[in-house]
Amino acid sequence: MKKIILFDVDGTLVKAGGCGLKALNKAVLKMGGPDNICSKFELQGSTDRDNFNRAFFSAFGRKPKEKEFLKLKQSYLEILPGEVNEAVKNKRYQNIKGVEKFLEYLSKEENIVLVLATGNFEEGAYLKLAPSGISHYFSFGGFGGDYERREDMIEAAVKEAKKFLKCEEKEFQVYVIGDTEKDVQAAKAHGYHSGIVLDGFGDPKKLRSNAPELIADNFSDMVPWLMWLGLKKDPKGVSRGSYICPDTPIEHAYYGMTGMGSFLSRKDFKEMEKMIKKAKVKK
Ligand SMILES: [Mg+2]
Repeated sequence: MKKIILFDVDGTLVKAGGCGLKALNKAVLKMGGPDNICSKFELQGSTDRDNFNRAFFSAFGRKPKEKEFLKLKQSYLEILPGEVNEAVKNKRYQNIKGVEKFLEYLSKEENIVLVLATGNFEEGAYLKLAPSGISHYFSFGGFGGDYERREDMIEAAVKEAKKFLKCEEKEFQVYVIGDTEKDVQAAKAHGYHSGIVLDGFGDPKKLRSNAPELIADNFSDMVPWLMWLGLKKDPKGVSRGSYICPDTPIEHAYYGMTGMGSFLSRKDFKEMEKMIKKAKVKK
């Protein structure tokens, strides 16, 4: 069975030191908008189409015309390389731990295709990845310049992969690797597998309540990732402490695979947290 593995960029492959946010702030300012526009909304996990529309709306009180959107994009892409360089120089830029080894391993596997699935514009994604030394693993992807909804971008990435593999729908599995709950939600919208890097930009509570199949700090331990991808068998037959097999029955009920956690109210959430803590003390 062929496997299509989709990788988000920000917080999943690299942490680019906020260079995208800074470049968008400067691009809005250049168009006559207020300073620091990105402080008014949350960018992480959304697509650039959505973020740029929202930045423009926050600055000018209306949705941009396509011409204005393209002008903002152009300006952003001119500013971005300088911000990436600045992030590298100030040591704010880093690869997610273990990612080079993980990608190298996967690239040697048969029947696997590595694909970008990122909210970034295509040009922006490759500019952000340039210092990482890993961009050569990705020759195509789905990008967020064309889609407001992350699930549409994900589907575009899969469509590209299918073209590359020249295979029909039933002949492949899709694995989505990201760092925010929006990656999980977009994967689940299509019934795809979802795995999460905790060292990115996601809120751990939101991530857990969206119940991805796997949560790992980063890629430094490849074993859980390879087990999740079906490339390696667990030597002990179980995997404790992950959401493949949670620690306690209560944790299982709460964090289980149904995604029901997303429908819990804040009060319910607090109650469940207390129960989980108590259960852990008794162990
Ligand atoms: Mg991300």
